[in-house]
Amino acid sequence: MTTPMDEKIEPIYQEVLARNPGEVEFHQAVREVLESLGPVLVKHPEFAEHKIIERICEPERQIIFRVPWVDTNGVVQINRGFRVEFNSALGPYKGGLRFHPSVYLGIIKFLGFEQIFKNSLTGLPIGGGKGGSDFDPKGKTDGEIMRFCQSFITELYRHIGEHTDVPAGDIGVGGREIGFMFGQYKRITNRWEAGVLTGKGLNWGGSLVRTEATGYGAVFFVDEMLKARKDSFDGKICSVSGSGNVSIYTIEKIQQLGGKVVTCSDSNGYIYDEKGIDLELVQQLKEIERRRIKDYLNYRKDAKYVKNGNIWEVPCQVAMPSATQNEINGKDAQTLVKNGCIAVGEGANMPTTPEGVKIFLEAGIAYGPGKAANAGGVATSALEMQQNASRDSWDFAYTEDRLHKIMQNIHKDCFETAEEYGAPGNYVLGANIAGFVKVARAMLAMGVV
Ligand code: GLU
Repeated sequence: MTTPMDEKIEPIYQEVLARNPGEVEFHQAVREVLESLGPVLVKHPEFAEHKIIERICEPERQIIFRVPWVDTNGVVQINRGFRVEFNSALGPYKGGLRFHPSVYLGIIKFLGFEQIFKNSLTGLPIGGGKGGSDFDPKGKTDGEIMRFCQSFITELYRHIGEHTDVPAGDIGVGGREIGFMFGQYKRITNRWEAGVLTGKGLNWGGSLVRTEATGYGAVFFVDEMLKARKDSFDGKICSVSGSGNVSIYTIEKIQQLGGKVVTCSDSNGYIYDEKGIDLELVQQLKEIERRRIKDYLNYRKDAKYVKNGNIWEVPCQVAMPSATQNEINGKDAQTLVKNGCIAVGEGANMPTTPEGVKIFLEAGIAYGPGKAANAGGVATSALEMQQNASRDSWDFAYTEDRLHKIMQNIHKDCFETAEEYGAPGNYVLGANIAGFVKVARAMLAMGVV
C-alpha cells in the first residue's frame, strides 16, 4: 500500500532502490520523504535542476569497520561498526550511535537519512549522520561494555571531531557508553574536546535536560498538536511503549501535564497499570538495576504483565510509541483509531509502518512523525555543543525552556508548511517539506559538492 509519487521523483526513488539493494528500512524512510516532495519541485525547479534530491539520497561518506574485543571468558569477539555521514550542509554530521543486534547498514542509513531532516527542523547548525554496531549490550558486564566501546572508538576516532562529526546515544548507548568512548577518544587524541560527543556526564561537559530531552520534547510536540485542536493532556489516558530513556521521560512529562500513562514495555512484553504507571519504580528497575519490565509486577500487584502482547490493543487517547522502528503496523493503527485515539507522537524513529501512517492521516487524528516529534533529543545535543563551545553550563529551567521553545517552533514550522502546501493538519508533509527545504537551500548555495 503506497502513495503514488510525483513523476519526476519516481525515477529517483527507483535509482535509490537499485543502488541500495536489500536495505528495506532505508527504502521506507526515503520513500516517505520523497512522497512529500512533488509540490516542492513545482515551487523550486532549481532543486531539480541541481539534482538536490539525488544528492541528498546518497550519503557523503559511509564507514564500515571491524570491532574486535575480548569477552569475560577470554574469548575473542568480532562485531561490525558503522558511521554514515549523510549530509553536512547545515553543520557537522550529528546523530546517535545504536548498539543492537538488528543493526546493519540499512538501519543506520534509514536513521541517518531521517536525521538530516530532523536536525534541519531544529533550526540549529547540525548536519545529519548516524552510526552504531550489531553488538548486543544485553547481559554484558561493565567490563565488556567498556572494552567494546574502546575498540569501537579506536577506529571511529579518526572520523569524528567537534567540527566534523559529533555522535551521541541511541538504543543501547547511554551515559555509560558515552563515558567509555569519550575516555578512549581523549586518550588517543590527547585532546579534552568536549564537543566531540554529546550525552556526556553532568560533571564533565554534559548538559542538564539532555537525558530528559527526547521524551520531554515529544510530549511538548504533542501538547502543541493538542492545543492546535483546542485540547490538552489534562485527564487523557496515554499509552507509551518502551521503558528506555525516551519512554521514561515521556511518562514523566505526561504526568506533569495531567495525563495518565497506563502502559510501558520492553522487548519481552508490556505492563498495563490501570492506576497509572509508577515512574519511580520503572526508573529503579531500568535505569538503576537494569532489569526486565516484568519485575514491575513484584511491586505493583494490581498491574498486569502481558508477555509478547500487543501494547496497542490497550485503549488510549494519546499513543506515544517510544521503542523502535515499525512497532505500529496498519492493523495496530486501526485498533488505536477504533479505540478512540486522537493523537500519536513518535518518540522512536519511524515506529509506524507506511500502512499505519496512512490510516492515521486518513482518520484525521493528530499524528506527529518522529523526525519532528522526537527532535528534542538532538536539539538538546546541539545545546550541549553550544555550552561546550562557550565553556559554560546552563541551569535546568533555562535549558528546558530553550527545548520547549524549539519544540514549539518545530510544531509551528510543520503546521504552517502543511497549510502552505494545501494539506492542513498533515504533519508528515509539513515536517518533510520544512526539513528538506532548509537543507536544499544550503546545498544550492554551496554548489556541487
Ligand atoms: N539518537 C537520537 C536521535 O535520534 C539523538 C541524536 C543526537 O543527540 O545526536 O535523534
